Amino acid sequence: MLLKRLRDTMARAGSVEDTLGEVVRLVANEMVAEVCSIYLLRAGEVLELFATQGLNPSAVHRTRLRVGEGLVGDIAAHGRPLALDDAQAHPQFAYRPETGEEIYHSLAGVPIVRAGRVLGVLVVQNRTRRQYDEEEIETLQTIAMVLAELIAAGHIVSPNEMQQVDGLGLLPLRIDGVQLTPGVAIGHAVLHEPRIVISRVVAEDIALEQQRFEEALHGVRADVDRMLEAHDMQSGEQREILETFRMFVDDRGWMERVREAVSSGLTAEAGVQRAFDEVRIRLGQSTDPYIRERLSDLQDLCNRLLLRLTGRVAADPASMPDDMIVVARDMGPAELLDYDRTRLRGVVLEEGSALSHVAIVARALDIPVVGRAPDVLSRVEAGDPIVVDGDNAQVLVRPAEDVLQTVHAAIDARVERRRKYAMLRDLPSATRDQARISLHMNAGLLIDMQHLDDTGADGIGLYRTEIPFMVRSEFPDVDAQAWLYGRVLDLADGRPVTFRTLDVGGDKVLPYVGAFGDDNPAMGWRAIRIGLDRPAMLRRQLRALIQAANGRPLSVMFPMIAEVAELLSARRLLDLELDRARRRGQALPEQLRVGVMFEVPALAWQLDSLLPHVDFLSVGTNDLLQFLYAADRGNSRLAGRYDSLSPALLRLLHFVVEKVRPAGVDLAVCGEMAGRPVEALALLAVGVRSLSMSPGSIGPVKAMIRSLDLGEATGFMAAALTQPDRPMRETLRLFAADHAIEI
Ligand code: PEP
Ligand code: MG
Repeated sequence: MLLKRLRDTMARAGSVEDTLGEVVRLVANEMVAEVCSIYLLRAGEVLELFATQGLNPSAVHRTRLRVGEGLVGDIAAHGRPLALDDAQAHPQFAYRPETGEEIYHSLAGVPIVRAGRVLGVLVVQNRTRRQYDEEEIETLQTIAMVLAELIAAGHIVSPNEMQQVDGLGLLPLRIDGVQLTPGVAIGHAVLHEPRIVISRVVAEDIALEQQRFEEALHGVRADVDRMLEAHDMQSGEQREILETFRMFVDDRGWMERVREAVSSGLTAEAGVQRAFDEVRIRLGQSTDPYIRERLSDLQDLCNRLLLRLTGRVAADPASMPDDMIVVARDMGPAELLDYDRTRLRGVVLEEGSALSHVAIVARALDIPVVGRAPDVLSRVEAGDPIVVDGDNAQVLVRPAEDVLQTVHAAIDARVERRRKYAMLRDLPSATRDQARISLHMNAGLLIDMQHLDDTGADGIGLYRTEIPFMVRSEFPDVDAQAWLYGRVLDLADGRPVTFRTLDVGGDKVLPYVGAFGDDNPAMGWRAIRIGLDRPAMLRRQLRALIQAANGRPLSVMFPMIAEVAELLSARRLLDLELDRARRRGQALPEQLRVGVMFEVPALAWQLDSLLPHVDFLSVGTNDLLQFLYAADRGNSRLAGRYDSLSPALLRLLHFVVEKVRPAGVDLAVCGEMAGRPVEALALLAVGVRSLSMSPGSIGPVKAMIRSLDLGEATGFMAAALTQPDRPMRETLRLFAADHAIEI
């Protein structure tokens, strides 16, 4: 009944302030309390009295308590209810003369919580020493939930001003993660898969809501059973996780909480949210990994139920801030590119690794990314001010003013460093002992091409053709592809461009094809494997490339070649397209270079038969490392586990260099490793002379090259590689420090 009246009141009243006034009157009346007040959280961790029935009306907007101060502050700080028959005897009691509250002895208060964040406090007070019972506290909690929606929807306190609780405290928050992309950015949070916000809180028809909840639960249960069946043949972790999850779905205690909430008059979705918020507030501060794991299971379950109950609504891009920091659990490169680039400043991921494609795309966009930031999605609210500090692998949420100033200084220093690197632009890329090193750039979008000029790169060592495919809603036809590749060549203005044919599959999903359902996508049906099984698709791309070159030199590279036969088949398709162009009287490339990515280790033992058929080899260390160590490049738990500066990889590369050099075949490295100065040093020391990297890395790598004596480095490396196996990173750092090499 109270909820119904509350809803009617909310529907009747005018401004949000008026509504709050009506609400406190109604609640005081219904709860037989002399006082009912609403305090809301404002900037600076202050709780301000916004509406009251019973206290002195002139105290509204005047009475302010710091979080943690007084009983109201205590409720907000801990995010938990208080019920006291003798409030004044409580050590936390703080007397505020302007309110005239000295005559009230008992107090009950609950936090107003939305999506796990405290927005304010709802309080009732009585003159007598009243003992509030559990049911009354629950009623207050339900009212607080309705209020939370009203407050959020009414923007009573601007979201930018609002401070939120993280765990116990209301302090600005620092979250440590790992650097996926360097750089520093300041902006406002956009939650990638925004938490499902419920708009209907009060039930129109309780029986119907109960039924909706049971149906949703049944649906989720069936989904999980289906997943379990699908994984029936698999043992181990995945099944275990699903089974634990399934047990959760059947957890009586939690379900009963939801059912009770729904019986008290909440909608099914509000009941789910309410029960979840309770658990989160209770367990949210726990650092016990088991509990955190359970909490994320519960979050997952809650989301599944809410999805069924509400249906997700896509965010409106126009409502996004101009300085977006996208916060996500994990995301694919296409998802990142869905955001308006002119407004995208940085990314924070709960998962992710430096080799994942989202990180590579972010690097191309030159935006900082911090990954493996624990629980960031539940600790950040949309609209929160955030600093993404890729350089120091940390995220600052709701930073204080002095912190912001320091960050601005760091951004200025970065600009200054860039200016220094820009000065290297026209200086030769050569070592102190005059070895010339070619520096190329990796690209995948037309906008990347502008960096050719500002970095002074020799050309494009890797053009990832799949990126434009991933951002479209349908497969581009030959003309569209030809136009695009033609533009790339125009913009390169005579500098060489190596086009890699479509490398989809793995973590690169085409929106119009979907995931292929491989258990191990990186090792599944991807790249050239798809190209050879669907030759029409690959032929269309090769046709477009020939058309785009229109007589200019053309360089084509096939990805993920694991056997010589695959290259030969791919080459045959290229020859067919050349014949076709010839027959039609089209201009043929003045020079044609064909090469392969070296990213599958098996190729190392086929070099003798492979080399006669290629003009160049480009080492994709991202994939090579993942296959060499059997370590998923996108798995955040494995990130950093196997160092790219391991003797195994360096010996393998040295072996390849020695094979390739006498064959007169060009060799380059185009994985992310090439763009990091210490790694680049190691690559040069094992004999590589051509590197291709993200534009932002060219300056730092060139600075390293110009300070390096390659003869010395080669000797040092040869000796180091004969040592018993141990990580080489520290050794190389010391070598660089001793020899004044800029890393
Ligand atoms: C690589 O694997 O190192 C590479 C350059 O290709 P991609 O990152 O696109 O898989
Ligand atoms: Mg690769």
